[in-house]
Formats: sequence, structure tokens, C-alpha cells
Amino acid sequence: MRPHHQERHRTERIGWLRAAVLGANDGIVSTASLVLGVAAAEATRSSVLVAGAAGLVAGAMSMAAGEYVSVSSQADTERADLARERGELAADEPAEREELASIYRERGLAPELARQVADQLMAHDALGAHARDELGISAALQARPVQAAFTSALTFAVGAALPLLLVWLAPADWLVPAVAGISLACLAALGGLAAQAGGARIGVAAIRVVFWGALAMGLTAGIGALFGTTVS
Ligand SMILES: [Zn+2]
Repeated sequence: MRPHHQERHRTERIGWLRAAVLGANDGIVSTASLVLGVAAAEATRSSVLVAGAAGLVAGAMSMAAGEYVSVSSQADTERADLARERGELAADEPAEREELASIYRERGLAPELARQVADQLMAHDALGAHARDELGISAALQARPVQAAFTSALTFAVGAALPLLLVWLAPADWLVPAVAGISLACLAALGGLAAQAGGARIGVAAIRVVFWGALAMGLTAGIGALFGTTVS
């Protein structure tokens, strides 16, 4: 049973880590792209900083709002499903018992064993068994909107702080290569870290995230250069 146990732990950890890495990735990519775009329009360091700081706050709030809304609606759905299931259990327990047994039969258990499993699981925690095996809601996956919103905003802000810090500290001539290079290196490291935690291939994950990051930065820098020369 040991491999199965480890596997489950890995999946649980991935949920958290994945959300954190995705938030930081978004923060780095969007803020680095934003400051590179403004810098390419020949802006002063202070206007690049203002744009980057505004991007940090706007991005963190938009991540929080988006995550809150999406996780809340998921939580509403789960709550409604559980309430309906609770009602069905109270109204017609034998039918629910048969429903659960049929789920186990479809998964490959012999009819007699499926009946026994349904009986024992329902004696232990009837609603829990139906939530898990009929609705697919497990304790580890239960939606927590406020926590999700806060985590997204925080990890985005941490990621966004990196290119901002580089804008603040880098010598003027080195601003663009420093922001682009160090941001891409951090993206690669984060992508590799997430892949390693999930047991996936590190190199592929790092290349993937660097490709999309470089594409975003290249595009915004191009737009900035274009507008910088035509508008001003
Ligand atoms: Zn049911």
C-alpha cells in the first residue's frame, strides 16, 4: 500500500504548490512584460516604476477577484450537491444504498462485494461516501474561496515584486536585459521546482514556461517600442 499512500500525498501537495507557482509565474510574466513595454517606449525609470507598481496592485486584485468568484461558484455547487444528497439519503436510504453499490459494480467489484462495501461505508459515513464516490467531492478538494483569493493575490505580488525590484536596482543601461534575463531565469527555476514536486520532467517544464514568458515580454516590448516612437 505504500506507493499509493505516497502518490496521494503528492497530489495534495501539488494543489497548493501549483497554485503558488502559477500565481508567482503570472506576477513575473505580466509585470516584467509591462515594465519592458514601458521601458521600450523610452520612459524614465520613475515612470517605469509607477507602471510596474500599478501593474502589481491591479494584477494581484484581479487574481484575487477572479479566484474568489470562480472558487465561490464551485463551493456553491458543492454545497447544493451535498444538500440534495443529504435530502435523498433522508428520503430514501435503500435507493441510495443501491445507487452506491451500483457505482462500485461499475468500477469492477462483484455484486456481493459491492453491496458489502456500500453497506460498510454508509454505516461509517453515509454522506461522505456519496460525496466522494458519487459526486467526486473529497475533503482535500473542497473549495475555499477566501483562502484561494488570498493565496493568488499574495503569490502574484511576490512574483511581480521581482521585476519591480530589478527596475529599481539595475543600472539604467542594463535595465532591459536585467529585467528580461533574471525574470526568465526565475521562471525557469519555478517551472522546474513545480515539475520536480509533481514528479514530472524538469527540463520540459522549464522550457515551456520560459518560452511563454519570453513571448509575452517580446510582444509587449515590441508594442512599447512601436508606440514610443509613433506617439511621442
Ligand atoms: Zn447518492
